[in-house]
Amino acid sequence: GAIIMRTLMDEVRNNPDKVNVLEFMPVVELILDNRGRCAGGILYNMETEEYFTVKAKATLNATGGYGRLHIRGFDTTNHYGATGDGLMLSYRAGAKLLFMDSVQYHPTGSVFPEQIAGFLITEKIRGAGGQPLNKDGELFVFPREPRDVESSSIIRECVEKNNGILTPSGRVGVWLDSPLIEMLQSDGYIEKQFPAMLRQFIRYNIDIRKEPMLIFPSLHYQNGGVEINAKCETNIPGLYAAGEASGGVHGRNRLMGQLC
Ligand SMILES: Cc1cc2nc3c(=O)[nH]c(=O)nc-3n(C[C@H](O)[C@H](O)[C@H](O)COP(=O)(O)OP(=O)(O)OC[C@H]3O[C@@H](n4cnc5c(N)ncnc54)[C@H](O)[C@@H]3O)c2cc1C
Repeated sequence: GAIIMRTLMDEVRNNPDKVNVLEFMPVVELILDNRGRCAGGILYNMETEEYFTVKAKATLNATGGYGRLHIRGFDTTNHYGATGDGLMLSYRAGAKLLFMDSVQYHPTGSVFPEQIAGFLITEKIRGAGGQPLNKDGELFVFPREPRDVESSSIIRECVEKNNGILTPSGRVGVWLDSPLIEMLQSDGYIEKQFPAMLRQFIRYNIDIRKEPMLIFPSLHYQNGGVEINAKCETNIPGLYAAGEASGGVHGRNRLMGQLC
């Protein structure tokens, strides 16, 4: 993903005569012409606090997901720009949405420390042998179930069965037994395979080689979104959608990623 982004950004920066980049100027409304065709958008300049219009023959909605709406109070793995703008903009313009009842939860979001609540703990931890354990140290679900099964088991264990662990700020989670990985694999395995994860927790004086992490499902991906056809066209002529803003590419249940 990073390589695709870097290449694309290089191309954009190398062609300033062809591509005009507007940063910190979000779209706040789409414009339709008198035939109902999308004709561009209204943007807001966050520095000057002025609104202005951008005319376009084709408009692509690629505004990502809505994890930052924190639906039902869940933490999220998403960046702060994931506020569902594209859904709202397209809906107001008359675009069809689908599967809006469906969200993917990543089973292993961090719940402690508070500063990294929602932070994604890679599935590779469970792949390497880390196990989700309840407050009594019991394994309550097979650790390598698909995301929906793993997430619902963790939620049930904490919310219905009251077998979770409370954090000082009132969050609830289960243990992800990372020290077991070193026992199953070898000493030094975590440092070699998960250096960023190790560093992230060391910042808060938690050594995941010796102590388990506290986790709870985190809002990760919107399965729903703007309805598109195979050409990314919406039902509004001139308006396209791509990426997480588009809906239904994975049906109602995204099992893993779109790239890997
Ligand atoms: C931690 C994490 C790990 C992931 N790992 C994987 C993985 O391994 N494999 C995989 O396939 N997927 C993975 N995903 C999912 C995948 O990264 C996302 O679905 C994908 O990046 C979404 O890309 P996008 O271009 O649609 O949206 P984004 O990358 O979210 O980009 C949307 C952009 O639109 C901007 N924007 C929002 N509103 C407006 C507005 N009104 N006006 C102008 N701009 C606006 C946002 O600021 C943002 O820059 C992961 C997601 C997360 C959070």
